[in-house]
Amino acid sequence: MKCYNHHDRDAFGICKACGKALCLECMKEENGVIVCNNSLNCLKILDRCRIGFWVGIILLAIILLLLIL
Ligand SMILES: [Zn+2]
Ligand SMILES: [Zn+2]
Repeated sequence: MKCYNHHDRDAFGICKACGKALCLECMKEENGVIVCNNSLNCLKILDRCRIGFWVGIILLAIILLLLIL
């Protein structure tokens, strides 16, 4: 599979937001989530994932606290 933006480059990942194949230069990876680094819409997904990540951590901390108390 080739990069959506560079037809001469191999793709290294698929954007989670729009499903396009991306090369290393075109992709942005955070917490295992890959998105287009040139699309604001796709980058928004990262924020959403980041919030989900922290909500998970906080919930886990609350559950641990309840178990201890
Ligand atoms: Zn590319
Ligand atoms: Zn995308």
